[in-house]
Amino acid sequence: MKKTILLLFILLLAFSCKTSDKNEPQREPNSFSIVIHGGAGGIKREYFTDEQQQAYNDKLQEALNAGYEVLEKGGISLDAIQAAINVMEDSPLFNAGKGAVYNSKGNQEMDASIMDGKTLNSGAVAGVNHIKNPILAARVVMDSSEHVMLSGKGAEIMVKKFGIEMVDSSYFFTQKRLDQLKKIQGKEKTELDHSAFLIKNELIDDHKYGTVGAVAIDKEGNIAAGTSTGGMTNKKYGRIGDSPIIGAGTYANNLTCGISCTGTGEYFIRTVAAHEVSNLIQYKKMNPTEALYEVIFNQIGKLGGEGGMILLDKYGDIYWDFNSTGMFRGYKKSDGETKIEMFEKE
Ligand code: ASP
Repeated sequence: MKKTILLLFILLLAFSCKTSDKNEPQREPNSFSIVIHGGAGGIKREYFTDEQQQAYNDKLQEALNAGYEVLEKGGISLDAIQAAINVMEDSPLFNAGKGAVYNSKGNQEMDASIMDGKTLNSGAVAGVNHIKNPILAARVVMDSSEHVMLSGKGAEIMVKKFGIEMVDSSYFFTQKRLDQLKKIQGKEKTELDHSAFLIKNELIDDHKYGTVGAVAIDKEGNIAAGTSTGGMTNKKYGRIGDSPIIGAGTYANNLTCGISCTGTGEYFIRTVAAHEVSNLIQYKKMNPTEALYEVIFNQIGKLGGEGGMILLDKYGDIYWDFNSTGMFRGYKKSDGETKIEMFEKE
């Protein structure tokens, strides 16, 4: 009798496990997708001419296409996000690579990170200013060193040996970023990017960001995330933000999702923002929309921070949220769905 009850109990347990598996949403086999951002901040429609809007739209589309193409050909998500971020780093429209903002000493110091959601391998560089594409350097640190983060000269020396393209720091110059710096240099104040929009010849003094980031899931279901930035205008020499810090500005874990952040980095570090969102999904069983809201509004926002995040979960679904006015953002999925947005939530 006891044996029969035990058998029944085991059968019941097996059945209930099966039904709960069934209820869990499934990722479409072989599906893939990519989501990108080009920074968040006081991005309002009226700050942009039609031509400027078009230029941002085109560049975001180019970045999405570059990443999507890698995934379509069966490439891995790490390569896809790298391809997308490269396009934005090479464009002066964004605060990463060419066009990065200036620190208080009048130099650029760039940060970048990359993370593989399958293995939790990660790589990052901080405070570099001779590496044309800092995201490629982050990948080299991940793949070819036993470390996660290298900074400054040490990072540059190491990645140069692996064929990463080096440039004179003058390559990063843009007049618009220099104007941004001159406006606040010498003041105890930092400014986030996307503040170079001229209204009646006046630079708008608003909270703006310009970091770039991407998250992708490949046909195998592996997630990768990456972020690249020049940081904040007039930041102190040597300041490092959230973007190169795994768990703060970037995080990827196949068990949950991949995330890339943009905004006032100090607050994203203090809340360990990207990892916090992943944890809320994994342990509190929050859905991504709730988890993003909790961290962006209830944690970062309450401390006085501002910015946004893009998120791609293990099912290939895409989410984003921000507490700033706008965020450059877009996605492209293998089911044909695609979108680019810039201003308030649409
Ligand atoms: N999060 C970046 C930093 O604090 C800035 C940004 O997103 O624009 O360095």
